[in-house]
Amino acid sequence: MIKYDFHIHTDNSLDGRQSVDDACRAAIEKGLKGIAITDHADICFFEKEDTVNRFKKVISEIEAAKEKYDGQLEIYTGIEMAEYLTNAKGAEATLAVGEYDVILGSVHTVYREDIPDSYSRVDFSLLTKEKVISFIDLYFDKMLEMIYKTDFDILSHLTCPLRYINGKYKCDIDIHIFESKIKKILSEIIERGISLEINTSGYASTVPYFMPEHDILTLYYEMAGRRVSIGSDAHVSANVAVGFDKALDMIRSVGFDSYVIYKQRKPNFISI
Ligand SMILES: [Zn+2]
Ligand SMILES: [Zn+2]
Repeated sequence: MIKYDFHIHTDNSLDGRQSVDDACRAAIEKGLKGIAITDHADICFFEKEDTVNRFKKVISEIEAAKEKYDGQLEIYTGIEMAEYLTNAKGAEATLAVGEYDVILGSVHTVYREDIPDSYSRVDFSLLTKEKVISFIDLYFDKMLEMIYKTDFDILSHLTCPLRYINGKYKCDIDIHIFESKIKKILSEIIERGISLEINTSGYASTVPYFMPEHDILTLYYEMAGRRVSIGSDAHVSANVAVGFDKALDMIRSVGFDSYVIYKQRKPNFISI
């Protein structure tokens, strides 16, 4: 099976703990054909850090790795863009730094007066169930806005806040109450040719899960969605391609005969 991991962070992301070189060596050891390095560009923090120069550094490290591992590993230049609309100029300046093969679109921060921070840093157990539900609703709205107004290739980790809300904080929210909004998101990405990521990072935890899970992937397939990508969201070498065999099994079992990678922002279909 030909495997590409299209969502990997390095120490050029604040929370990354592997160098570009570490990620490449891990990918080769795990038998991958290729990877995309997709460091964070959380544009809401653009004012606080020099995203442009950070991405100049990332791209030069990726270029060096491409030369070093030529013939051993395909390496693609990516970026995980979040909250583009909080500072479109900053986002555009970051995208102008180089030629990207793939742009991931993510929602990491949902601004609301009582929840001003990234949802990964919010203690949801302190909120009422009503507030948690309206927060998730707003998360999906932000995602729709990103789909309507920005240009990207892969929708990353759909349902991500649930991993904190139901996983870490055991709020026990039934995702099915958001089904119509999820359907809307899926129909919009299908219409725009944006791929749906199966994010396997939950397979690095003790209670494995995918983002999104099997039922949403099935819904996407039934709606005629055929562009699915796979990304580990690895921040350390051990997690590169984590859960990939299970993800490929799931994708195949739903009915897909391929998954997608990107070169110069054009989709390439890899048979499974
Ligand atoms: Zn992310
Ligand atoms: Zn990520």
